[in-house]
Order: sequence, then structure tokens, then C-alpha cells
Amino acid sequence: MELTHALKQIQPSYIREILKDAQSEGVISLAGGLPDGQHFPVKLMASSLASLAQRPDLFQYGQTAGYGPLLDYFRTQFQLPEHHDSLVCTGSQQALDLIARAYVNPNDKVVMEAPSYLGALQVFGLAQANILSVSQQADGPNLAELEACFAEQAPKLFYAVPDFHNPTGVTWSVPVRQKVAQLCQQYQVTLVEDVPYRELRFSGELLPLVSSFCPEHALVLRSFSKIATPGMRIGVVSGKANWIAPLVKVKQSADLHSSIPMQAVLLDLLTHDEFPAHLATLRALYQERYTSLAEQLQAKLPQGCHSNPVEGGMFIWLTLPPCDDFALAKQALTHKVAVVPSSVFYKQGEKVTPALRLNFTNATSEELVIAVDRLVEVIKQECGIA
Ligand code: PMP
Repeated sequence: MELTHALKQIQPSYIREILKDAQSEGVISLAGGLPDGQHFPVKLMASSLASLAQRPDLFQYGQTAGYGPLLDYFRTQFQLPEHHDSLVCTGSQQALDLIARAYVNPNDKVVMEAPSYLGALQVFGLAQANILSVSQQADGPNLAELEACFAEQAPKLFYAVPDFHNPTGVTWSVPVRQKVAQLCQQYQVTLVEDVPYRELRFSGELLPLVSSFCPEHALVLRSFSKIATPGMRIGVVSGKANWIAPLVKVKQSADLHSSIPMQAVLLDLLTHDEFPAHLATLRALYQERYTSLAEQLQAKLPQGCHSNPVEGGMFIWLTLPPCDDFALAKQALTHKVAVVPSSVFYKQGEKVTPALRLNFTNATSEELVIAVDRLVEVIKQECGIA
């Protein structure tokens, strides 16, 4: 059967394709965006999971918007104004898909930073959006480019990951946050603020959400994949009630609702006395691994390679001397280390900076040391460095 034109244009996900090789014996994977499975808060969920058998009501069809007590919790936690709502989604990835289906017609303009989250490129690509790129700097998007783009192109949405960006780890400064919010208001562009890594800050100060400066012009996507578990598949989108209602309508046709038993378990977890301690442990663990990776890179990388420090999240972005980073990543796999080349994070045909995304949350500190040794060898070979 013939595929749709939209799907034919979508590149298969490099990360999903190499996942099998990345998981094979002896390979150290810095490729996926996986949280550490040994630290899933399963013990904190144990009694809640066991109690499900006594709560058959949770197994009935439920409301599309989500499990009522969880929505009430979100309203308080996120300090939502009366005229704002939340919709529980099957991962924040679904929120992106619902937004695209509700609001993006073919050729509608959607602005993204370059590089950008692959899953968002895929969603907006499938919606046949006209994706406009704005380059990313150390403290956020290039504001002059962004303003010119808003003024000249009148885009509909600006999709952004302001906290510990995937793939670059960049966090927007407060002045950048304020300016972007002001531009969204001035040019009537809706900000889609995607913050799955926000709780994984291990140094520096918590910064205000960009949307806190333009709440009437934003949809905020939160995820529980990194702080609870990705397998629960729970995320949530919040914003003005009259912007959330169309998303509820699309979700009805997509999957009726997300799993109610899992939402009940998530609520028990988020309100568990020991959940803050779980978060603190996770942050400390990821900080230790980040420090280990950053120090190894600093000590061992050849000249011409560079990475900026990060204050949280899951990734380091390693820029390389001129080379074919795709070939380099393939070669790295034969040396039993999996990494992701930069080209997969750009829309097709765009000018790409040779770089690698390195994940530091899934391998142990000891494995990270070995991974860097293997990687340095491959970089020297592929970039022709003696
Ligand atoms: N947004 C970004 C920036 C991500 O990196 C991810 C997953 N890694 C998602 C959204 C989707 O997360 P989930 O569907 O698991 O909530």
C-alpha cells in the first residue's frame, strides 16, 4: 500500500534504528535519552501498584482530559489560573502530536531552534509544517534572527526546549526568556514550551518558565519520563482552556484517554513523602556522571573538539573539527560506543555543525571513562588527527 506523501518524507529515527546495536553485548551507549533504569522509583510505587487490585473503578473508561485527582493536583502544583486547563497525554510526545493535529495545516509556519529535538521535527514534519529554523547560541535562540523571522514570516508556533535542551544541553538565560516572551506577545506567535528535563537541574538556580512571562500565548508540555519512568507514558500539556479543549477533541480520536491506573499511580508517587528525596538522589547521580564525562572529555579530547558546561538534563553536545560525523558515529559503534551524530537533529538539507550528542545518565561513571577512551580514538582517526 502506498504511503502518504508526508510519511515518505520522514527520515527513520537514527536513534531507534541503532538501538539494537547500541544495546548489544559490550557496547557502551551514550546514544539514547534513557534515564537510569536502576533508579526508577519502583519501591516508592510498590504499595500504590499493589493497591490497584482493590481499585477496580480505575480500570473503567475514563475522562479524556485525565484522572480528576491528578488534574486537581496539577492545577495546584502549576498554579494554573482559573481559565487555564491541563490535559494528560500519553507522554509529552503525544502532546506535540495533538498540537500539530489541532493547530498546524500543511505549510503553516513553525519555528524551531537548530539543532532541535528529533521527535518534534518528526511530528511537525508529518503535519507538513513549513519548519523555519533559528540558530541557537549558548544562552538560547539568536534573538535578532528570531525577531526577523517573527516579523517577516508571521509563524504560528515557536517550539522550544529552554531547559537543558535536547540535543545541546543549552539553558536559556532569564533576559532571553523575557525577550522571547515579549516577542511572542508582540507578534502573536504561540510558544510551545517543552520542559521534560526541567526537574533534572543539578547546579545553578531554577529559572522561571518562559511561559510565565507570556501565559496567554503559551502551551507548556511537561513529562514524567525522566523523574518517574518513561514506561508509564505520562505527560501533560497546560494552557488557556480554550486552547486545551481542541486538544481534548483530537485526543478523543487518537486514544480516548491515557491509562487511568497509571495516572493514579503517578499521583501517589508525586505526593509520596519520599519523592523529593528520590529527586535529590537522581540529581546527585546525574551530576556525578556528568562531572565524570565532562572531566574525561576535557582531559582527553584532541584540539578542535569543544563542549559547553551544562547545569542539568541528560546531554553534552560535543562539537568536532570538520568531519563526517555520521560516518564517525557508525565507526564509533564498531569500537563499541554508541553516540548520535548532529545531522539527525536538523531538518533535511540544513547546514549542519559536525557534532555528537552524548548522554550521561544511562552509563555508570566507570563506563563513561572507557567510552571516552574509545571515542577519542575514533575521533582522531576520522578527523585525521595524529
Ligand atoms: N520533548 C523532548 C525535548 C524530549 O527529549 C522527549 C523525549 N526524550 C520528549 C519530549 C518526549 O518525552 P515523553 O513522551 O517520554 O514524555
